[in-house]
Amino acid sequence: MLQFLDLPSITGGTVLQAPAAGPAAVQQLLLDSRRVGQPGGALFFALRGPQHDGHRYLPELYERGVRLFVVDNSTAVPGGLAAYPEAGVLVVDNALTALQAVAAHHRRQFRLPVLGITGSNGKTIVKEWLAQLLAPDELICKSPRSYNSQVGVPLSVWELNPTHTLGIFEAGISEPGEMERLARVIQPTAGIFTMLGSAHDAGFFSQEEKLFEKLQLFTGPGFGRLFYCRDQQPVHAAVQRLGLSAFTWSRQGLPADVQVALLPPAPGSPGRVPARISWAAGEFFLSLPFADEPSVENALHCVSSLLFWGVEPAEIQRRLDRLQPVAMRLEMKQALNDCYILDDTYNNDLAGLRLALDALARQPRRGRRTLILSDVLESGLGGEELYARVAGLLPTHGVERLIGIGPGLSQHRGAFAGLAAAEFFPDTEAFLTAFRPDAFRHETILVKGARRYGFERIVAAFQQKIHGTVLEVNLDALVHNLTFYRRRLRPGVRLMVMVKAFAYGSGSYEVANLLQFHRADYLAVAYPDEGVDLRQHGISLPVMVMNPAPDAFQKLRQYHLEPEIYSFELLDAYLRAARQPDGPPLPAIHLKLDTGMRRLGFAEEDLPELCRRLRENAAHLRVASALTHLAGADEEAHNSFSREQLAAFARMTPVLEQALGYPVLKHALNSAGIVRFPEAQHDMVRLGIGLYGVEATGQEQDALRPVSSLRTTISQVKTLPAGHTVGYSRRGQAASHDRRIATLAIGYADGYDRRFSNGVGEVLVRGQRAPVVGNVCMDMCMVDVTHVAGAQAGDEALVFGPELPLSELAARIGTIPYELLTSVSERVKRVFVAE
Ligand SMILES: *Cc1c(COP(=O)(O)O)cnc(C)c1O
Repeated sequence: MLQFLDLPSITGGTVLQAPAAGPAAVQQLLLDSRRVGQPGGALFFALRGPQHDGHRYLPELYERGVRLFVVDNSTAVPGGLAAYPEAGVLVVDNALTALQAVAAHHRRQFRLPVLGITGSNGKTIVKEWLAQLLAPDELICKSPRSYNSQVGVPLSVWELNPTHTLGIFEAGISEPGEMERLARVIQPTAGIFTMLGSAHDAGFFSQEEKLFEKLQLFTGPGFGRLFYCRDQQPVHAAVQRLGLSAFTWSRQGLPADVQVALLPPAPGSPGRVPARISWAAGEFFLSLPFADEPSVENALHCVSSLLFWGVEPAEIQRRLDRLQPVAMRLEMKQALNDCYILDDTYNNDLAGLRLALDALARQPRRGRRTLILSDVLESGLGGEELYARVAGLLPTHGVERLIGIGPGLSQHRGAFAGLAAAEFFPDTEAFLTAFRPDAFRHETILVKGARRYGFERIVAAFQQKIHGTVLEVNLDALVHNLTFYRRRLRPGVRLMVMVKAFAYGSGSYEVANLLQFHRADYLAVAYPDEGVDLRQHGISLPVMVMNPAPDAFQKLRQYHLEPEIYSFELLDAYLRAARQPDGPPLPAIHLKLDTGMRRLGFAEEDLPELCRRLRENAAHLRVASALTHLAGADEEAHNSFSREQLAAFARMTPVLEQALGYPVLKHALNSAGIVRFPEAQHDMVRLGIGLYGVEATGQEQDALRPVSSLRTTISQVKTLPAGHTVGYSRRGQAASHDRRIATLAIGYADGYDRRFSNGVGEVLVRGQRAPVVGNVCMDMCMVDVTHVAGAQAGDEALVFGPELPLSELAARIGTIPYELLTSVSERVKRVFVAE
């Protein structure tokens, strides 16, 4: 096992301080202070990014028991070495390079075949499928999910242990120079190049450069064969130029090791494609269990690798038929009795379980944490050791209750004796038979099962879906948008995120929790009760409340919510409350300055009086920030007005600070302002609609990802003879032909605006647009699906989402995306998904 004192020779670093505990074995690599499981044996690398510095977290990590650290030499250790008396501290030039060196060293300890996979698309699918296809013969260590980055690859390779007989790792890059580093970590002995996409990556000068760079994965000393599709001409040319030895397949009859001819699908089996395969050992037929082009391509990569590996054709067919789609979604769903379900469909092996538990541990504390788990598929370990390891993971991730389903768990129930509550069932049916909703209240439940246990039935039992309409909130898209705006901030500028109006309809505390995890600096809500709700759900970030009524001041004190003060009346009321001797001091305030919005705030002429009162009450009051709001940042036509507002703000704030005698945070920009006026970021910006995927200036819409999709279902489809009308007031005009009309489970009480009536609105059914017929009713509406082949009850209808943009729908009814987003009623279930 790797010892801390071996690290200098592996990383080229220097030991600043040796660990008090002696040699100190390194058991896990830790990059993220939020993911400390077992602190013993954890080695923390203080990584740096544009908006991130791992060194900041050393005190917190030490406090939590981490004793081994790798730091870089560009800053001093916070608090000085004396603050970490028991720790081992290694100093290196670059902590990321050191992490990769440690993983490369680990990799060198094993002599086994290792397959490296790269390409523009399909890496994760090919990796997961190959792992499924080779599982009967090999004990495989593979990258979990799509861990293919500069940090994901070292973490994946670190999982290699002596029981493994094969490694499969994927590698993805975004800049020149990165692949060489990944190649040194993975040290592949064979490889697959999936495909070269046509997209021009920003990080590369040209397609050729990108291709050449990706192929660097396969140029190390121990590399054997590269598998790829010969029909990709540029790939083939580059492989030849590099002199790599190859094993290729072709569908176009080009010279290749494996020739593939796809045949027309048999009439009885749509969804399957028959193929004739010929290679050195002869010719045979396969039936590929997919029909879409990317899946066929990915499957053929796998088939040619299996042939090379010596798997017999009949066996290849058997294994292909057992192939399961790769599910990587992690969904968070509201369930009965105020429970939340985390539904994770990714592999239930140890690595997959660990990732799911990480996700659970990131949820705020709200009641207890429960895990519903099926037998874990980890062929490398005996049951005893396997379930001892599983049991070890639970307390460190805050799991208090286990429901174990399957013979393996039942047999090793003894391993879980330390948990407060554990129950075991031989199979899913037994659990469902015994299921009593009352036994679950106000808890967060991770549901994690191997596919054959059919845990979707358990999720359904918890959800008891009645209303068929859901708002799906894509948390990955949200993080993508957050990063887009963060990248535009100068170093040190803080980020306040607006989560008012139920986080623009997306679900306040789920969004707030994600923002807390991603270290936003501040949140803002409209009303005190919204802030209280966040606190009750475990949100500890500073919160600004924009409309604090005096009767809620005690609540502000109790929940530590900071009010925005926008008038002399409000200021006086707050001062009166602050001067009362009882209780802790009132929270700091935010002063709203009116520079042109003419809604709320102190105008420039109010400044002398405001300064006087602030000076007089300096002892009772602390001002955290001064802000103003732009009236027309989204429209270019108002640019000069916006600039005048910003100039007024720049005049007013120094006067305030002078009166206060200390600096305050100054902030003026909303989402549109961040894009339009980068020079006016001051100390903080206030991000709103942009986070939710709408770029209000319209200049950078393509850089954002839509966050919410509103989906409903078809309750019924009717055929309507020519001449009949539809719905209330007979507004759905009669037509001269027979029509098929679908009734949808959504109406204006769900937030589907009545202005969408009579053809103004459209929804998407089976990928085709279906116009609204007649008036939108309270709980339902009707759409015309005459032209949508096969539309039937139970089908999904997309009301808005990536394929049906909010901005288009808003324009149709003469409103703005803000209104559509925030009017989705709270009775519509929110489902949070991540990949
Ligand atoms: C809502 C709000 C914002 C965010 O505006 P967006 O246009 O959604 O970015 C910023 N500041 C204040 C004061 C707000 O009320």
